[in-house]
Amino acid sequence: MSDEHDARRMEKIVSLCKRRGFIFQSSEVYGGLNGAWDYGPLGVELKRNLKNYWWRVMVHERDDVVGMDGSILTHPEVLKASGHVEGFSDPMIDCRTCKAHLRFDQLTEKKGVKQCPNCGGKDLTEPRQFNLMFETHVGAAADESSIAYLRPETAQSIFVQFKNILEVSRKKLPFGIAQIGKAFRNEINPRNFTFRSREFEQMELEYFCRAEQGMELLDYWKEERLKFYENIGIARDKLHVRTVPDDERAFYSKGTYDIEYSFPFGCQELEGVAYRTDYDLSQHQRASGKSLEYFDEETKQRFVPHVVEPSAGVDRTVLALLCEAYAEDEAPDEKGKMETRIVLRLHPRMSPIKCAVFPLLKNKEPLVAKAKEVIDLLRPHMFVFYDESGAIGRRYRRQDEIGTPFGVTIDFETLGEKNASLRDTVTLRDRDSMKQERVAINDLLGTLTSRIR
Ligand SMILES: [Zn+2]
Repeated sequence: MSDEHDARRMEKIVSLCKRRGFIFQSSEVYGGLNGAWDYGPLGVELKRNLKNYWWRVMVHERDDVVGMDGSILTHPEVLKASGHVEGFSDPMIDCRTCKAHLRFDQLTEKKGVKQCPNCGGKDLTEPRQFNLMFETHVGAAADESSIAYLRPETAQSIFVQFKNILEVSRKKLPFGIAQIGKAFRNEINPRNFTFRSREFEQMELEYFCRAEQGMELLDYWKEERLKFYENIGIARDKLHVRTVPDDERAFYSKGTYDIEYSFPFGCQELEGVAYRTDYDLSQHQRASGKSLEYFDEETKQRFVPHVVEPSAGVDRTVLALLCEAYAEDEAPDEKGKMETRIVLRLHPRMSPIKCAVFPLLKNKEPLVAKAKEVIDLLRPHMFVFYDESGAIGRRYRRQDEIGTPFGVTIDFETLGEKNASLRDTVTLRDRDSMKQERVAINDLLGTLTSRIR
């Protein structure tokens, strides 16, 4: 597909996100805060569905993983030991012509001469290191002693709580600690909609093991994570596994895979799966002076465990879900004339609203009463939406555009007016095929739950 086509597609997705309340620019009425985004009524549902499914698969459905929720404010010693204070930086360059601040790797090159990608200027400053962490002060004293950081990743709080969690959970190696939460990076150039943001959410697992299990578990987790993406509706052929070459890998890592997705703006990383050896725990053990060793009851050995880390971005995955789901096809309008339909083909598991319930007419009291009954039946089990306004075709279309997989219509047959055998049945319409089937209200809950789990 052409670049132009992809750019147009991305524009349509961004526009849909705003129009229907998935994603807004943060502080929009004040001109926006660059690199920060707010999720609207539908975006927050989509995001929660993603995080809940990750938690279900990574924690609840396993015996060997427990969860935690660490603080965002982080002790400076943690990030000194992890290497972030010294080394978590990007080389930065200024263009003296247009005053743009640029990441060194964003410069373009013409006949071997580096250029500003904005204005083509060649008058550039020397690269300097720019630390990506947000620094803040804790308490009233705004001096050196009160510095704290907003965490640049959730992983470090897992490492520094390793010993506490090992003791309370009584897990044996290999076992993991999972966490979902916000992280912050002062990106020089936030871009590609929500893809590179300054405030974002991560879903991270630190899976502790013996040294000899590391490489095998690295491959195991890569496969598990690929399955996860397929199970939320991202086609396998849109995912790409990149083996990170030796010279790009962190010095302590013995192997890293990037799981990438073909976004309209290019193939970009969704998740890194890295074998980080015993680097993190060893660093914290050294810096804190506290033992972070594991004692093996059987072999009577004492050692610092190694770790494999699958680390996924929530916001990136939400964006991938939207990009993957966005489609345009043809559907008949009220008069049977074909028109373009915008449809989000989200996996029902991810859809913000699972089922919309429509009385055929809003001024027919028995239809409305029956629709309310159906709403009450479904509501404890899934997020449903009631809509009685406008022609039924238009109501379907509004739901198609936000990815609602099922629509239930209460019509005169539900009341048994034409055919007594159809009493208490409804029309169940499928978003993707637009096919309709007749389902008894008694079977509705079972039918729907089996399709959205
Ligand atoms: Zn410039």
